[in-house]
Amino acid sequence: MTMDVTDFSAAAAQAEALDAADPLARFRERFLVPRHGTGEQAYFCGNSLGLQPRAVREALLEELDDWRELAVEAHFRGRHPWMPYHEFVREDLAAVVGALPHEVVAMNSLTVNLHLMMVSFYRPTPERPAILIEKSAFPSDQHAVASQIRCHGFDPAEALIEVAADEPAGTISPGAIIDAIDRHGERIALVLLPGVQYLTGEAFDLAGITAAAHRQGCRVGFDLAHAAGNLELALHDAGCDFAVWCSYKYLNAGPGAVAGCFVHERHAGAHDLPRFAGWWGHDPATRFQMKPGFVPARGADGWQLSNPPILALAPLRVSLAIFREAGMAALRARSLALTGTFEGLIQRHAGDVLEILTPREPARRGCQLSLRVKGPRDAGRALFEHLHAAGIVVDWREPDVIRAAPTPLYSRHADCLRFVQAVRTWADGRDRA
Ligand SMILES: *Cc1c(COP(=O)(O)O)cnc(C)c1O
Repeated sequence: MTMDVTDFSAAAAQAEALDAADPLARFRERFLVPRHGTGEQAYFCGNSLGLQPRAVREALLEELDDWRELAVEAHFRGRHPWMPYHEFVREDLAAVVGALPHEVVAMNSLTVNLHLMMVSFYRPTPERPAILIEKSAFPSDQHAVASQIRCHGFDPAEALIEVAADEPAGTISPGAIIDAIDRHGERIALVLLPGVQYLTGEAFDLAGITAAAHRQGCRVGFDLAHAAGNLELALHDAGCDFAVWCSYKYLNAGPGAVAGCFVHERHAGAHDLPRFAGWWGHDPATRFQMKPGFVPARGADGWQLSNPPILALAPLRVSLAIFREAGMAALRARSLALTGTFEGLIQRHAGDVLEILTPREPARRGCQLSLRVKGPRDAGRALFEHLHAAGIVVDWREPDVIRAAPTPLYSRHADCLRFVQAVRTWADGRDRA
């Protein structure tokens, strides 16, 4: 039996032309793309760990040199003085998430910030004890909310409300979330949802959810781990009470990078809010008088605990500068084009192999597509391993989902084509066997 081998030459020419015509494609040069043989990987795991910006090494060496040469005086005389270091990322961080500068701060890690925010914004009462999250939330978020509920003496079996998927692909329709908020509203103390769901890649309507929750008298927070640096966000206008995110995924700030936190301006001077305090959250005007009595700094800064880890902030500083230069609106436009191309290629050339779980409406997703591998139970794992061997880096979620995220800063249309060609080769080989 002879098999048709799909001719990809027209698609290859088109991908090359799209990449050549896009001014943002040059940002790829700012990143270190891991090698695969004599070439480069096609890297689709920016949703898990973003690639290293070339500028990171120099930024780290600069801090090491300042430490060596200036020691304690680097707090004031360093090239980027350590004392106000977190100020160097403030404007860029605010721009990435659509916030006012004093609404954001870079500190801690995501789950720590989530807990700190819940200390202030999850204030359950016997009448209103509940937290609403999505079913199959990221495990860290599940652990965080369940432990907070228990800390207040309530039982997660009663006080944790999970919104289930109501669409065939496992996604949640926007209406189902609003319905759940309306139905349980009086019992809900806090609505906590993702900006983009990590498993399905579904993006949620932050402003709509916030409005519905506030109508019911609930507080609202968002986990933006998969949304920051991916979607064009407008947190201030959305009006949520708080948001948290990590910086090692789309923000490319390196493993375990310093995370982000947003507290809406309406709480900037809310000094009566219960909170866990530390000296770095104290009003900087009197912080170093070292007197007893905590006076919180205005805005998100008032939730800081410790003096910031400079070696972990340096990569974030240079990484955010790339976002400033490219602009989130332009990045989102390129992202829509890339993921649209990716989707089209999958449908056309691999529709028999892969089912797209992520919503098809561009407004309901970021750059990631979650793909279910059709066929026998072990097919997905086999495909994943084939891709890996071909230098195509995606990730694998049991039992049958591949997540692939073309990111607008360093992925190319040509990478999307390379993925689809590799899937085709694998499927044709399997069919022949
Ligand atoms: C990546 C991710 C985390 C990781 O939490 P860390 O505190 O950074 O380890 C938590 N929640 C969600 C939704 C994530 O996607």
